[in-house]
Amino acid sequence: MKNIMVQCLLCGSMAIGLWTLLLAYFHYNQENRQLKKTQELTRTRPLGENVYRQNHDSEETPKQNIINDKTYFSDPEFYKGFAQYGLNVVISRRLGIQREVPDSRDKICHQKHYPFNLPTASIIICFHNEEFNTLLRTVSSVINLTPSHFLEEIILVDDMSDTDDLKEKLDYHLELFRGKIKLIRNKKREGLIRSRMIGASRASGDILVFLDSHCEVNRVWLEPLLHAIAKDHKMVVCPMIDVIDDTTLDYTAAPLVRGAFDWDLMFRWDNVFSYEMDGPEGTSKPIRSPAMAGGIFAIDRHYFTELGQYDKDMDLWGGENVELSLRIWMCGGQLFILPCSRVGHIAKIQNFNNAALKALSWNLLRVAHVWLDEHKDNFFLRRPYLKYEPYGNISERVALRKRLGCKSFQWYLDNIFPELEPFIHTDEKEWNHFH
Ligand code: UDP
Ligand code: MN
Repeated sequence: MKNIMVQCLLCGSMAIGLWTLLLAYFHYNQENRQLKKTQELTRTRPLGENVYRQNHDSEETPKQNIINDKTYFSDPEFYKGFAQYGLNVVISRRLGIQREVPDSRDKICHQKHYPFNLPTASIIICFHNEEFNTLLRTVSSVINLTPSHFLEEIILVDDMSDTDDLKEKLDYHLELFRGKIKLIRNKKREGLIRSRMIGASRASGDILVFLDSHCEVNRVWLEPLLHAIAKDHKMVVCPMIDVIDDTTLDYTAAPLVRGAFDWDLMFRWDNVFSYEMDGPEGTSKPIRSPAMAGGIFAIDRHYFTELGQYDKDMDLWGGENVELSLRIWMCGGQLFILPCSRVGHIAKIQNFNNAALKALSWNLLRVAHVWLDEHKDNFFLRRPYLKYEPYGNISERVALRKRLGCKSFQWYLDNIFPELEPFIHTDEKEWNHFH
């Protein structure tokens, strides 16, 4: 009897043991499959979906990936990278291809609501030898923080980069975003002005939004831009450009500023008059801006063409922002900065080699000769060494100005930028700066 009981107990515990083993096996298998599935999802799904949902659900300010240790100062890669890319590549590689940045908008912006039906946007990003992670963070931030029904496409224009990781490795990574991205590779170096025109010619969204290749957009960045243009198709709008530090890559909210320039035609930020912030909209009110900083702005696609796009005979970099700003104001459009739309940008220190310097002078001369009328003397007082330099044929741009029935530069000074004082003194140090 005892034997039978022992046998029964043995059988029972064996059965329980077997059962537990079986359960453990299934459980393990299930977990493994789940893990694999998640890995596949994160590799193949647009990177954005999760982050987008998170961002819109939580009111908390996300923590930045601030890397406090400064060991990069002793890393030769840091110096090599800075010389090559104009930013801290050691940190950029650590941050990788996507991160969250703090919501830099004023509280008042949180209360704004935008219609569900707005025009669609084509985002155009030109790049020349951009650091790989920095470029990918630009793209992933757009995907993550743009409602997909507003995003027609992202058009990347590779302006003849020669770094290895912007070739097959870039193609491979862009696959992860599936569908929404077009990559155009220029066959020769075109410069950012013609590259933007190439991008625009391939766009099909209602509105063109130009970004640099070292940006990270913020929450609800696109809606204010689309909404403003939907109300007035001759309205050109810029986001507030937040600062991404080139060394720490920390993201900081920019103060309220407007765009301006001096008689040397170089862009600078300017204070906003406090009376401009009067009224119920307060610090969220659009800021009327005499000029745009560079290549971060939104414009109706048809209006861009109607207005004459860019001067295609300008080279490489510079002057095109002032030229477009003058053209917008003098030819019937408007230019505003929208404080509720925020885009972070790494302000790199420009390395002017001879070719870049030559292109800048050439471009500025074209702006002065087409747009400044009798006031171009002020420009030559600031840059006397350019007085007899060549600037190519401007007849097409002069004809465009006539065709569009644009107003005089005096009108622009009187109505849009009266603070641009007539030039009276010569600061030798300044005008020699680019010589
Ligand atoms: N860029 C380009 N071709 C060039 C010079 C610049 O495609 O010949 C790109 C560059 O990679 C960047 C954008 O144009 O994405 C604007 O250039 P940058 O950031 O130097 O201008 P800034 O910020 O000073 O306006
Ligand atoms: Mn830039």
